[in-house]
Amino acid sequence: MAKNNNNNIFKASWTYDEAPESIDHIQIKEQYDLYIDGKFTKPIKGKYFDTINPSNGEKIANIAEASSEDVDKAVKAARKAFKGWAALSGKERGKYIFRIARLIQERAREFAVIESLDGGKPIRESRDIDIPLAANHFFYYAGWADKLEYAFPNRDPKPLGVVGQIIPWNFPLLMAAWKLAPALATGNTVVLKPAETTSLTALKLAEIIHESGIPKGVVNIVTGAGETGASIVNHSDVNKIAFTGSTGVGKYIQKATAGTNKKLTLELGGKGANIIFEDASIDQAVEGIVNAIFFNQGHVCCAGSRLFIQESVADLVIEKLKRRMETLIVGNPLDKNTDIGAINSKKQLKTIENYIKIGINEGGEIYQPECKFPTQGNWCAPTLFLNVSQSHRIVQEEIFGPVLAVQTFRTIDEVIEKANNTPYGLSAGVWTEKGSKIFHLTQKLNAGVIWGNTFNKFDATSPFGGYKESGFGREGGLHGLKPYVKFE
Ligand code: ADP
Repeated sequence: MAKNNNNNIFKASWTYDEAPESIDHIQIKEQYDLYIDGKFTKPIKGKYFDTINPSNGEKIANIAEASSEDVDKAVKAARKAFKGWAALSGKERGKYIFRIARLIQERAREFAVIESLDGGKPIRESRDIDIPLAANHFFYYAGWADKLEYAFPNRDPKPLGVVGQIIPWNFPLLMAAWKLAPALATGNTVVLKPAETTSLTALKLAEIIHESGIPKGVVNIVTGAGETGASIVNHSDVNKIAFTGSTGVGKYIQKATAGTNKKLTLELGGKGANIIFEDASIDQAVEGIVNAIFFNQGHVCCAGSRLFIQESVADLVIEKLKRRMETLIVGNPLDKNTDIGAINSKKQLKTIENYIKIGINEGGEIYQPECKFPTQGNWCAPTLFLNVSQSHRIVQEEIFGPVLAVQTFRTIDEVIEKANNTPYGLSAGVWTEKGSKIFHLTQKLNAGVIWGNTFNKFDATSPFGGYKESGFGREGGLHGLKPYVKFE
């Protein structure tokens, strides 16, 4: 049989039956209140907002909207709890954090389903990445709680006090873990706010934290949108703000905290360079490109959203990439075959669609495989832009969606120059068989995280954070303890 025919048969046979994850075991209440001072409490002004399933537009539950009075209540509870929590031995604090980690593991399946329902990410990712990594983070920092003297030898680290933490919607539970675990291990108390489109797993986490028996007021979880976040940022009795989100809001927070005694760490946007050299293993690199940009619908601050391919292999890589994109399954986040789930919100879908228009208007050559979308919900096909250059907006600005801008290069110096020509500095990836080339680029690329022959790999033991407009401060690893301690 001719080769072409073979290919056709091969492609036609790659259809999958649906494999939906069961949701029978999931308990979601109609209404979720604030978690303040060890109790679930109604918001003082009695306001609630809807949380929506982005894959079908249906309402899942009512979520309490915390006013500045509620935030004040939460900060007061955290302040009251601080003395006792900070005075507890590291070993005792560690026990609570271990317990939280174990309870997440026990309820991992439930958490994974709710994360996909509320946020739109494929169940495969929430089940295999988000939830296990969140548990790992608590395990890892539980281990540090009684070993702080080894983390900071001869320096006598002390907690900062009450910490305000504001997190985004792309990795809801995981970001809560990144924030809470090091803060608690070092003896701080916390007021945490999840993003308004993805509050559910943080509220489920509140249930687990309650079950862990941690003293009341040590962790407070308040829900709401930007205004609630601003109330935390502007509260006069908060000692530190830890924020992960957009660069725009990060700049606002930096201004709001300037001239105060509040400490600040910011993990903001990115426009990661993914660099493919001609000596790379091409098939492996193509998988890496897909993972770098289409993982979590591209809602990833460290996504490899700028692809640089060495000219001699550009045609081959692009051809293989297009073929691979044709096989990606876009659809129901709860289907175990799904590669690309729903876009998190209508607002974000509009932003992405607007950037796609900008890319076309600026003269970029667009490629999208044919996709059959469900009739309801927020969907975006995986998208490539060819024929773009450094000055294109889609090359410079963060899109936060499944949109990849492709450029080519000839020499190492050229690609270093191009990769660093961005206001951001969060991540990069380098694909080559030569270890020395990887080491050379890790020295020259201005990015907080650089992956060699892989992309989007996360580990609790490894620090993560950015340069330039991607923010400052590190989360994860030994480095992640530092933003939560002071030395007297
Ligand atoms: P995006 O624009 O991608 O939705 P944001 O940076 O707006 O990302 O959101 C990240 C987090 O910051 C969310 O929890 C959001 O509610 C919160 N937030 C938004 N505006 C403000 C603000 N002015 N002050 C504090 N937090 C805010």
